[in-house]
Amino acid sequence: MAQTLSGGCLCGAVRYTVSADFIFSGKCYCEDCRRGSSSGHNSVYAVPEQSVKLTGKLTEYQKAGGSGHPITRRFCPVCGSKISTTAAAMPGVMLLTASSLDDPEKFTSQMSIFTSRAPSWDRPPADTPSFPEMPPQG
Ligand SMILES: [Zn+2]
Ligand SMILES: [Zn+2]
Repeated sequence: MAQTLSGGCLCGAVRYTVSADFIFSGKCYCEDCRRGSSSGHNSVYAVPEQSVKLTGKLTEYQKAGGSGHPITRRFCPVCGSKISTTAAAMPGVMLLTASSLDDPEKFTSQMSIFTSRAPSWDRPPADTPSFPEMPPQG
């Protein structure tokens, strides 16, 4: 049976539940994730989009990712907490921020990506695979 997770933003205006196992999870150290997360990297987990039930209004910001396909990042317009990301290159998949989980221990990172850009003050963990850029596809 799939796990059920719950999460939301800092102010409580946005809440969500997810009933699905992670498709993948990880830490992204790309420049966009660094700036967007207000930290050295963004920790996210991927689930089927239809498994996410979200309440509250999110503001979105769209920018092309490294592949040139648009990436949409959504955040609470009241408190600014980053909640979700969807990528045109990954239809039907939603990335949710580990930071938004009610119980952050429900998240485990499987890998670190774009680690060639990790700042000296936020190094990738040594106990999971690290990829200097995107991991090989397939
Ligand atoms: Zn909020
Ligand atoms: Zn990134």
